[in-house]
Amino acid sequence: MLTTIVALTALLHSPTTPDTLSLSSQNHPTRTAIDTLPTDDKYTKVVLYDNNTWEYIDLGRPVIDDTDFDTENWNTDKIHAYRDMPLSLIPDEVDLLLVDSLHSYHPPYIGTVTSRYCFRRTREHNGTDLRLNIGDPIYAAFDGKVRVSKATSKTGGYGNLIVIRHANGLETYYGHLSEHAVKVDELVKAGEVIGYGGNTGRSTGPHLHFETRYQGQSFDPERIIDFSTGQLRDTLITLKKHYFSIYSHHGQTDAESLAASQRIVHRIKSGDTLSGLAVKYHTTVSKICKLNNMSPKTTLRIGQRVTVR
Ligand SMILES: [Zn+2]
Repeated sequence: MLTTIVALTALLHSPTTPDTLSLSSQNHPTRTAIDTLPTDDKYTKVVLYDNNTWEYIDLGRPVIDDTDFDTENWNTDKIHAYRDMPLSLIPDEVDLLLVDSLHSYHPPYIGTVTSRYCFRRTREHNGTDLRLNIGDPIYAAFDGKVRVSKATSKTGGYGNLIVIRHANGLETYYGHLSEHAVKVDELVKAGEVIGYGGNTGRSTGPHLHFETRYQGQSFDPERIIDFSTGQLRDTLITLKKHYFSIYSHHGQTDAESLAASQRIVHRIKSGDTLSGLAVKYHTTVSKICKLNNMSPKTTLRIGQRVTVR
């Protein structure tokens, strides 16, 4: 697949092969690609040559292994198709092969991370935000099938959203797009443009909200991708159950991640005070303040979530 693309690129950008380069082109004319035309099939193009000949070029197809692919929970209407599936059904450890000789990878977008996978003020932030310019192309990270392609009015904050399911069970989410370039049930290849960056939904500036989920459970996308370079960190990731906690993130040791995932979070109700919480959860006000980066004088708001242990 890659070879074909490379070959096509070579045809388009250097009409003479290295073998003929040293020879005079007048004596040994070679045909030069002058244009490409799309066909009904997005993976086939027609290449036109300057000697009035043409040929089809196969750009290669996405690899979806039907035997692995989870079609059982295939739902093109619900954003979170695994919503009813409890974390307890997921094994303690799952190995996900991300790339191999058949399955390639392409960065969804390379940019500055403006918000990480974390608990942010009053809500979970289940993905990584990357600053971009409206209209920048967004790419499928791996080969897959588009499960969701929804307009901003139906996504509750995600804006224009695309969700792609991959053969290994991983799903990738691409939010706040200005435009969709693919449809539901469409197969896509790693590196294929699936939409364009935008500022739709709950967004305070143009950015890509990128999520990685396994069976509906989100984990920090920075565990698999270094967004500063766009590179995959490894060809395989072993997902541990505690990675699915919003308090678990890339950069922690597994022990730190496990401890973080066992945190207890209290949602503030009317009448709650820091000293009251300290008594209730057998801790101290200063420990609570340290965990939440707050001062003992901070006013607690109703509905606010405070990590108590
Ligand atoms: Zn986000």
